[in-house]
Formats: sequence, C-alpha cells, structure tokens
Amino acid sequence: MSSMIVNLACVSCGRSFEPGEVTMACPDCGPDDGILDILYDLDAVHRAWRDDPLEGRAHSHWRYHELLPLDEGAIPHHWQVGWTPIINAKRLAGELGIEQLLLKDESRGLTASFKDRASSVGVADALQRGATTVACASTGNAATSLAGFAALAGLRAVIFVPETAPEPKLAQLLVYGATVLAVKGSYDEAYRLCSSACERFGWYNRNCAINPVLVEGKKTGGLEIAEQCLAFGGVPDWVVVSMGDGCTIAGIWKGLVEMHNIGVIGRLPRLLGVQGTAVAPIAHALEHGELPAANDRTTVADSINVQAPRNWRKAVRALKESNGAIVGVTDDQILEAMRTAGRHGVFAEPAAAAAVAGMAHAVNGGTIQATDRVLALITGSGLKDTRSAIAAGGEPIRIEPTMDALTDAIDRSGARTE
Ligand SMILES: *Cc1c(COP(=O)(O)O)cnc(C)c1O
Repeated sequence: MSSMIVNLACVSCGRSFEPGEVTMACPDCGPDDGILDILYDLDAVHRAWRDDPLEGRAHSHWRYHELLPLDEGAIPHHWQVGWTPIINAKRLAGELGIEQLLLKDESRGLTASFKDRASSVGVADALQRGATTVACASTGNAATSLAGFAALAGLRAVIFVPETAPEPKLAQLLVYGATVLAVKGSYDEAYRLCSSACERFGWYNRNCAINPVLVEGKKTGGLEIAEQCLAFGGVPDWVVVSMGDGCTIAGIWKGLVEMHNIGVIGRLPRLLGVQGTAVAPIAHALEHGELPAANDRTTVADSINVQAPRNWRKAVRALKESNGAIVGVTDDQILEAMRTAGRHGVFAEPAAAAAVAGMAHAVNGGTIQATDRVLALITGSGLKDTRSAIAAGGEPIRIEPTMDALTDAIDRSGARTE
C-alpha cells in the first residue's frame, strides 16, 4: 500500500480500518453495503508533489502514484494508461449555445474504454498480492480491460458476462485469452456468481463495487480532469458522466475532491449523471434513498444497463456533495448523440454517447446554462458495439463503378461543393 494511505472507511457505517487490516468490504456491513473508501494523507501528497512536481512526470496515470493503493515497487510504469486527450469541441459548443465543451476521450487506451484505469490498478494489486487468477463480472468493458491487462501481466482471467453482451466485447475477451463464461441471466446474476466463485476459489475479485482498489484507478480520471483543465481555462462548471454501477462517477468525484484538497484546483465542478430513461435506478435512489424494485426494461447503452447498481451510495453521495443532477436519455437520443460526437471527431459507444446526449438534454432543459463550461467523459469506443454504430450511422451510398453513377450519387448526397 502507498505509504500515504491513512485508513479505509466504510461508506455505510463509517468504521475505519488500518491499511492491510481488510482487503475487500467492511466485515460488519457485508459485501452489498460495506464498500470501503481509501483515504490518504493529502498534506504528505502535497509535499511530495512540491518536491517532485507533476509537470515533470510521465504522461500516464501512474504520475499520481502517491494517490494509488500500490507499493512503490508495484507500479507498472511501462503500462501506458490514462493521460487521455481532451478535445475542445468548439463547433459543438457553438451549436449547443454553451461557453465551452470539452470531450475527454477515454477510448484511446489499451482496450478502448475508461475501465482500463481501474483494471490496470487492479491487476497491479493482484500481482503485488501474488494472485495468479483474476475474475470479474461485467457488462463488457470491465471484463475486456481486465482480460487485456491480465494478458499483459501473464495472469489468468475468468470472466462472467451476461449472455447478451455485444459481440465485439466478447470477441475482445476471447482474443485476449480469457476464460469466458456467458451466464444465461442478467448482469446481476453474473455478478453474484462471480463473487461466490472468488470466495470459493480464492481468485482476485476485480468488481469495483466490492474492491476498493478499483475505484482508486477510476479516480485518476478525476485527477486528470483537474490537472488537464488548467490548460483550458480552469475547472469546468459541469462534468458529465454516464452511470451504470455508479463507480465511475464516484471515482471521478473522489479524484476531483482530492485535487481540490491538495490545492491543485481552487473550486469543484458540479456532476451531471446520465442514465437511460428506462433504466434509472440511481435517479430513484437520489430521491428516495434506496434502489427501486428491478424491472425488465433496458437501454441500448449496454455498459450502463444496470438495474441494481452496486455503488449507488457512493454515486448518490458524489452527486449530492457536488450539488449535481441526473438526467435520463432515450435510445434515440443516444444514437443521435453517437452521430453528433462522430461529426466532431469522437467515435463513442452508446454508454459514452449517453454523456453527450445527457449534456444536450440538460442544456435544453436549462440545467446547464449558456455561460457554463462543460466537460463530458467519453467512456468507451464506438467499435465496442458495432451494431449500435451501424444503427446510428446508417447505410453507405452503393453505386456502380462508373463516373456517371458517382457524379449522380455525389449530386444527390449534397457533397458537391463547386
Ligand atoms: C462501465 C461504463 C460506464 C459506467 O460506469 P459505472 O462505474 O458502471 O457507473 C459508462 N460507460 C462505459 C463505456 C462503461 O464501460
């Protein structure tokens, strides 16, 4: 563990543990409620960064190693993770009528999703603990990133996916050499089976909701937003994040708060959480303090198609602390946002485009105002779900291989300019 960790605190009962005392959830509250939060000595981090400034460090998320739960010797500096680009989408900001729109493109990593941040830290932790097998249940991206980093590290990966996971994600898992168990049931059932299997067989459990180390990886997205935004006029007014289990938004918030407490940024943004209109349990929990009864409605955005979010408490806490809001988006709005993002150079999978759709929705509804500066997190690549990409993109123009057919087609497409 980083020497700068002070303790681990249970998000339900508040009980705190010494580093090394527990590895997973709070033993009093159990794995469903007793998620732990890792807390650092931020004054010590501040001093370390003063002596060895961030500006001079490698362009990966390991630059924040003092804020990660890894021994110094366990940091895999040679794995390029994080430090993803921020795109200043000026045209789109103009179209929407807002001051600034930044898109942080998380599709650029090893396995093309935001989950690489968590999986890289999880696999490094598994290595430092001497594990030989890592496991997780996932709607797709957590699994593919775990399989990718396990392959890099030479560990065995056992993956539980719901049978309905999109084919490209399954293919990615299999090519990385993971053992893939397609569970005939929901994500929720796959999740429970995986947790039991980890207990039974002693595998390293990569599930973010129970393993506090994983959220620390996701946190680096927030650390980076804070640091990188300094080049774009400072902290945005809103950070927009799509929500499945809620670990991503909670992790982003933790990173932003730590950067604020260390003094890198002078204020905090508000969070806008985005869910499908049909699958919006965190919106319910924000209002009522508990999850709704599960139903069988779904969203095209498979990565956020989560009926019983594991980390809803942390997500709700983050949303409340940030004075944030939640919006719901329809499948049509998500597909439209895939086209919108694409036309500005970002190829997003549905759950990632949901952030763009949610942002547009919040602008139209007046939650985000014309004077606001906004950053939307693009959490995964459009190549992850080609069926949705095809649904969003439409058909090519089919022509005979002749100049006549070409000129005719070009005239009809409106692409001819002279
Ligand atoms: C996992 C995921 C999310 C949501 O993250 P949670 O931690 O489940 O809330 C959003 N977008 C993509 C592409 C994801 O893979």
